Amino acid sequence: MNTVTRPRILVVGAGFAGVECVRRLERKLSPDEADVTLVTPFAYQLYLPLLPQVASGVLTPQSIAVSLRRSKKYRTRIIPGGAIGVDLKSKVCVIRTITDQIVDEPYDYIVLAPGSITRTFDIPGLTDHAFGMKTLAEAAYIRDHVIAQLDLADASQDPVERASRLQFVVVGGGYAGTETAACLQRLTHAAVKRYPRLDPSLIKWHLIDIAPKLMPELGEKLGSSAQEILRRRGIEISLGTSIAKAGPEEVTFTDGRVIPTRTLIWTAGVVASPLIATLGAETVKGRLAVAPEMNLPGEDGVFALGDSAAVPDLAKGDGAMCPPTAQHALRQGRHVADNVIASLRAQTMKPYVHKDLGLVVDLGGTDAVSKPLGIELRGLPAQAVARGYHWSALRTNVAKTRVMTNWLLNAVAGDDFVRTGFQARKAARLKDFEYTDAYLTPEQVRARVEGARAPE
Ligand SMILES: Cc1cc2nc3c(=O)[nH]c(=O)nc-3n(C[C@H](O)[C@H](O)[C@H](O)COP(=O)(O)OP(=O)(O)OC[C@H]3O[C@@H](n4cnc5c(N)ncnc54)[C@H](O)[C@@H]3O)c2cc1C
Repeated sequence: MNTVTRPRILVVGAGFAGVECVRRLERKLSPDEADVTLVTPFAYQLYLPLLPQVASGVLTPQSIAVSLRRSKKYRTRIIPGGAIGVDLKSKVCVIRTITDQIVDEPYDYIVLAPGSITRTFDIPGLTDHAFGMKTLAEAAYIRDHVIAQLDLADASQDPVERASRLQFVVVGGGYAGTETAACLQRLTHAAVKRYPRLDPSLIKWHLIDIAPKLMPELGEKLGSSAQEILRRRGIEISLGTSIAKAGPEEVTFTDGRVIPTRTLIWTAGVVASPLIATLGAETVKGRLAVAPEMNLPGEDGVFALGDSAAVPDLAKGDGAMCPPTAQHALRQGRHVADNVIASLRAQTMKPYVHKDLGLVVDLGGTDAVSKPLGIELRGLPAQAVARGYHWSALRTNVAKTRVMTNWLLNAVAGDDFVRTGFQARKAARLKDFEYTDAYLTPEQVRARVEGARAPE
């Protein structure tokens, strides 16, 4: 450890886990106790659970992007870029800045919270033709794309083109996919009234999942209620089904059906950030295997948490690991900060324990299902719990005000269907949004760090 200057704490990722950690470190450590640095490609913390509401235009993108520079009290140094490799031996993190400069950042303590990326499979055409629902840019882009399909279908004289523009496919029956399908279907349902030339019955949303149930964590009865709400709205749900092939104008399901569509939204789960693989350390299903204290066993000063780490779920026991949810990530963020401080002050670290509070699923309008603390709710009470939970979890009063104002405005004035023309001429799909090809291999990281240390 560096004993001459202050210890250097490097936090990677400004999501739920990273930001909670940084804010707690700033609060609990005096400025001369340690230097805190945050690496993040974006200048905001994204409140991901409300992303489907950005895609459907209920919320503006800024309202769920919480600025990292809101207060003068925030003294953390921020490096605008992404970590592309970590060398545990020399304690160096390799960073690609937003101007594509590669810099080495030495640390004494590193907290890895780069989250996850969309999980894809080796399905022909998938990464070229599907959208994800993981970034603010994707949500804003999808909204424009969906409205563009209505505009283009309206203008077209070709019934085949019309049919393909008015069908939409969402893959993934977890909460992200279900909320996305539900919110966007509401948008097209409301929008089509402004297109008198379009036959509303041509608009069709498909929600498919390889699993036999939607959101199995909701339980039998509540899961069926969610399914019933979606079916009533005309969303066609196909379970035990996935995608065999994706093309620019059609998607082939594994049951043989060929759906003419220009919109495939892929939300079939997440995997840990590729940064984790650059460490060359033990992983569990791609997530870094950490102790209940969230430190990496056998390595001094290395911590990981959130979607990128396999944190043992001590409340559940039986070798379970915490699910990749915001609920855990933000609590782990606070907890890991305490453990970093304990380690810095040579005190005992504490294991992370949190009993899951349940699940809230906002299906748009007054439709929702929620299971707070095991209590099953539907309709307005479920909606109140879902929105109340998200609203209170937003970090700043500005974000809370923006979100509440957007909700009220939407309830009073209804949806708006303005297509901004955002990147209209440039097709952008899954592979363009998540920068998964930016990372180094463990060997490249080592070669780079050793090369930088070698005498000239
Ligand atoms: C559509 C959707 C709906 C969801 N709904 C819910 C819900 O209702 N309830 C719930 O509990 N959870 C929900 N989740 C899951 C939840 O959002 C995640 O579990 C949570 O965001 C994980 O927090 P994290 O801090 O680990 O990662 P993130 O919040 O994803 O943050 C990771 C951060 O790291 C940054 N980053 C990535 N790579 C690098 C790198 N190489 N270097 C530096 N920075 C990097 C990213 O830009 C990001 O800012 C939802 C997710 C989605 C996508």
